[in-house]
Amino acid sequence: MLTNGPTKPLLHNGPVSRWIIGPLFVLMAACGATDPGTTEPVTQPEAERLAERHMVSAAHPAAVEAGLEVLRNGGHAVDAAIAVQMVLGFIEAPETGIGGGGFLLLHDATRGTTHMYDGRETAPAAATPDRFRTFGIEHPLGLAIPSGSSVGVPGLISMLGKAHADHGRISWAELLEPAARLAESGLPMPPRLRQQIESDWSLRLFADTRQFFRGQLDGADSTLRNPELAATLRHLALEGPDALYHGPVAEAIVERVSSARWGKADMQLSDLANYRSVVRDAVCAPYREWTLCGGAPPSSGGITILQMLGMLEHFDLPQMSPEDPATVHLIAEVSRLAFADRNHYIGDPDSVEIPIEDLLDRDYLSQRAGLINPLRAMEHARPGEPGGRIELTELRPRSEPPEHGTSHFSVVDGDGNLVALTSSNEAPFGSRMLVNGMVLNNQLTDFTFNPHLGQGAHPNAVGPGKRPRSSMSPFIVLDQAGEPVLVVGSRGGSRIIGYVLKTLVGVLDWGLDIQEAIALPNLVERGEGIELEENTSIARLADSLREMGHEVKILPMTSGLHGIERIGNGWRGGADPRLDGVARGD
Ligand code: GLU
Repeated sequence: MLTNGPTKPLLHNGPVSRWIIGPLFVLMAACGATDPGTTEPVTQPEAERLAERHMVSAAHPAAVEAGLEVLRNGGHAVDAAIAVQMVLGFIEAPETGIGGGGFLLLHDATRGTTHMYDGRETAPAAATPDRFRTFGIEHPLGLAIPSGSSVGVPGLISMLGKAHADHGRISWAELLEPAARLAESGLPMPPRLRQQIESDWSLRLFADTRQFFRGQLDGADSTLRNPELAATLRHLALEGPDALYHGPVAEAIVERVSSARWGKADMQLSDLANYRSVVRDAVCAPYREWTLCGGAPPSSGGITILQMLGMLEHFDLPQMSPEDPATVHLIAEVSRLAFADRNHYIGDPDSVEIPIEDLLDRDYLSQRAGLINPLRAMEHARPGEPGGRIELTELRPRSEPPEHGTSHFSVVDGDGNLVALTSSNEAPFGSRMLVNGMVLNNQLTDFTFNPHLGQGAHPNAVGPGKRPRSSMSPFIVLDQAGEPVLVVGSRGGSRIIGYVLKTLVGVLDWGLDIQEAIALPNLVERGEGIELEENTSIARLADSLREMGHEVKILPMTSGLHGIERIGNGWRGGADPRLDGVARGD
């Protein structure tokens, strides 16, 4: 049983505590104690997942309801997305919120265009490539996360404000109100959040954050409330999205980051005032009879998934079974090749030249697919030379940790506009710093910690005002007539890429319904060996895959896939049975 948490900081910000906290935190981060893992999967009955007009699929029913209410009142998919996101930011506070960032992929049915609103966090103007190094030694990730160095300027509100200015039909204030009301009145503590709070040892180091979250568990009624967030939302509702970047909220953010126990607390008010979300063309490519559009850089998800599909197109995947070792081998090999290119070429497009067209060139991908031996894992998957580029020294990233600080939801409105929105604090509970009810992100740890690898500038080196590379992969599929087929995305750090690929292949190649495709066992290969989801049918393939030369790990893989597919004149949704979300519509 839990006991009441202390009301005073456990450790003060002095030299002694630094020496105690550091190793302690590294140890706890290494233990990866923050994901509660899966409970018994529950699949929503199909009748509840069908709609004629509009639909929302998200990680919590209250968020879905908020979105549906907006759609019933004639709102655009963007309006609904704002309401959904605000409610998720309250309920899924460890994963997402206005102290973080995200990408909103929008298919505008009237114009027939697909764009990405980029609300990725930015590094402060004072940031330098060695932000996460001291005397040439990389900071341990466990220390870098809860530090002043990790917090990027939050981009989510700016992004939503811009999308709303372009497409909104319902007032900004009305869209923030459901979340403000809920954060004030509260709702029964979601069991998943309870587990997360109880299992996250790192919260012990942050008295205010711990007190805030644990205090709610220990109360008599175990209700989740966040009146500070409600007040912040009401302020933003009244003053508009810019009010996060100027005035008292901006001042509170800068002050909180400056008071970080360690790291470079160099965020200034000017960094917030200068933040701009950006509208970018989605990255689109054909796959068999469809056109697929994903997030543009700094998301690596769009290019990496489209490369994988561009290679898979050279194999008869529709005739292969998802549970055959040959299929898993093939998906793993295209993934290794695509991740090699991802690590080598993708970063912030405003600072680095990214050869998007060359990376997606059909001849290039055919040549890459030709490297695959259907019977044997390749010795080493190297980056290629798209457009005849001379290969630089290979950039191998540090092993990517199992993050889950992200949420994805999908929306379809009555006019056929589609929104795929993935947002993130990076790690669960972000930097562990809380201000005005917001969890502040640790997104800057998505930059490379070693910018000196390779001959040129590392594409994902820290730089002033730069956006870190992301794996968030909102995706939209269209048919030959440009009509919507599917909208989907997931949480899961760099594993998102594998989760989304599996779902796309499930629907498009294997003819599964969106829910079945989401429920398929997860399989990921990020250049670190194949990861198979534990307690699933494909975990049994491990030995055969090892015989083909693969390293194989079996582990829990809690994706958070939420998607919607078109069926006839209506829609069918799918919500990840590994979480507690639902897909509903009218
Ligand atoms: N920060 C990650 C990214 O942008 C997402 C984190 C997660 O999903 O856990 O790729």
